[in-house]
Amino acid sequence: MLKPWMKTALLAAAFALLFWTCAVPSTTSMVPEPLPTASLEPGSLPEHWINGTDENEPLIQVHAYNDDLYILRQSKRTDYEAPFLYLIFGDEKVILLDTGSRGKPPVRETVERVIKEWCAKNNRDDIHLIVSHTHGHGDHRANDYQFRDRDNTTYVSWRQNRMQEFFGITDWPTQLVEYDLGNRVLDVIPTPGHHRAHLVFYDRRTGVLLSGDTFYPGFLFVFRPADWQPFRDSTKRLVDFVRKHPIATILGCHVEMTDQPKHAFAYRTKQHPDERVLELTVADLEELHATLEAMDDKPYIEPHDSFIVYPAWQAERFGAKPPVDGDKK
Ligand SMILES: [Zn+2]
Repeated sequence: MLKPWMKTALLAAAFALLFWTCAVPSTTSMVPEPLPTASLEPGSLPEHWINGTDENEPLIQVHAYNDDLYILRQSKRTDYEAPFLYLIFGDEKVILLDTGSRGKPPVRETVERVIKEWCAKNNRDDIHLIVSHTHGHGDHRANDYQFRDRDNTTYVSWRQNRMQEFFGITDWPTQLVEYDLGNRVLDVIPTPGHHRAHLVFYDRRTGVLLSGDTFYPGFLFVFRPADWQPFRDSTKRLVDFVRKHPIATILGCHVEMTDQPKHAFAYRTKQHPDERVLELTVADLEELHATLEAMDDKPYIEPHDSFIVYPAWQAERFGAKPPVDGDKK
């Protein structure tokens, strides 16, 4: 037989427990587990990319993620930006995302070679090429000129109105659209912030999310205070997307960190010994989202294990020279 005070104490404990579970959900229960990736077409990534340390390295490294998706890395010896470019083959079209940075790398020649080899393997004479971009900063479109006179090619301007028109985005930036390469659908996700007309692409066949300069292992530059909220909203849009789609890997357009957590190379250095791998995970993206939520409307520079939140105007407060917006390069 319980004494009345015992009953009261038990009841109070029960209420406390109920309140705790309802009002203070654990953070792990708020972040869903990533979806299984077993249904996706597999691919591989290299352990190391060319990183500027070998004077004999090619001007562009070509890596076959699998037979229909190629990753090109521009050598740091041509330009410190050393961006990654992507070539994705569907049944009717192949899309090139970005044309690289300064330093005159042979992008056209390299793309021609990959297309030729792909066509030979697939018993095709040719395939229509789409030249498009993640965004219009100079280090992602410097070699557009190499494709201007190419036959069987559609050139998509990086300018926002032209780009929206091509992909059919009428409601910027909240409308996600599909782009079909022929039996291969890409989801196109508007992600302004780093650049006002930035796009992220998701390949449904492989589950690869191509995150451009919105998310990569390096300085996540946001250049103006007015870009901060769009950057936060875009990250939320990406997190909502990856929670509903199987993600094999997240590949951005640069690597600026070493293989040590939180540690970046000096910006603009032309050699990256012991460079971090390119790939990021859904957990990394969730970490960025949680970080931006916590910062709210008071951004600051903060290194994380695999990325660095970098509102550029804050750099001046520490006497550092802020990086130049790619538009002004
Ligand atoms: Zn860039």
